[in-house]
Amino acid sequence: MKVVVDRGRCTGLGICASVVPDVFEVGADGDLVTLLSAVPDERGGELQQAVVCCPNEALRLEP
Ligand code: SF4
Repeated sequence: MKVVVDRGRCTGLGICASVVPDVFEVGADGDLVTLLSAVPDERGGELQQAVVCCPNEALRLEP
């Protein structure tokens, strides 16, 4: 599955990075970086947790 970041909504708070640190990282410039372009389906639960935790609703999952 793929994680899509809505750059217009993301404010770089980094909550997603604290939930799934090997997938999300906030760079020195404050921009969110996704470290994996595709994530195995079995990790969907963790990613869904990150989606729910984002206060700006900036993340969504795609198959
Ligand atoms: S939690 Fe949401 S707003 Fe914060 S860095 Fe992640 S995607 Fe961006």
